[in-house]
Amino acid sequence: MQGAFREHQQALTGCGVESVQIRRPEQLADVDGLIIPGGESTAIAKLMINYDLFERVKELGEKGMPIFGTCAGMILLAREIEGSDQPRLGLMEIKVRRNAYGRQVDSFEEDLEIPVLGKEPFRAVFIRAPQILEAKNNVEVLARQGEKIVLAQEGNFLAAAFHPELTDDLRLHKYFLEIVKKSIA
Ligand code: GLN
Repeated sequence: MQGAFREHQQALTGCGVESVQIRRPEQLADVDGLIIPGGESTAIAKLMINYDLFERVKELGEKGMPIFGTCAGMILLAREIEGSDQPRLGLMEIKVRRNAYGRQVDSFEEDLEIPVLGKEPFRAVFIRAPQILEAKNNVEVLARQGEKIVLAQEGNFLAAAFHPELTDDLRLHKYFLEIVKKSIA
């Protein structure tokens, strides 16, 4: 709907996987997984509601369709958004803070340790990034930036505070595609 969807598509192409841009609810019948990109979470939610995608995506998520939310997409996956009643899918038991790094450092890059991706650090691009304040129940914390939780998984849902589609490192997209493969099997 909005945000960095083209870059995600390029990353998926780089992984050898076919992808489509979802704009209509019927299109969801043809996909095995969904990426909700970074952008502006309130704008993405509004457009999803206007295009009848919001409830459909929520339903499919509840049925187990894998969803990867990056940055604004992560905010949409969260059950709780600090100080906000904006619409969200609420599929993950996480509480998030929008714009967690404030205006001073509104964008930066940092090498993160992400053990599930191997020893090589992952270059993470943060743009007006959120953070995860609380990860409950079955949510697995996969990476932190300092103290802040910035990558988490709950079953078939994956949430990243940063933008993996803006570097050439395809490991996180491949990790998501493994989740998708397992869910098809
Ligand atoms: N600050 C945006 C929001 O709150 C997220 C930023 C991003 O996706 N790069 O929705």
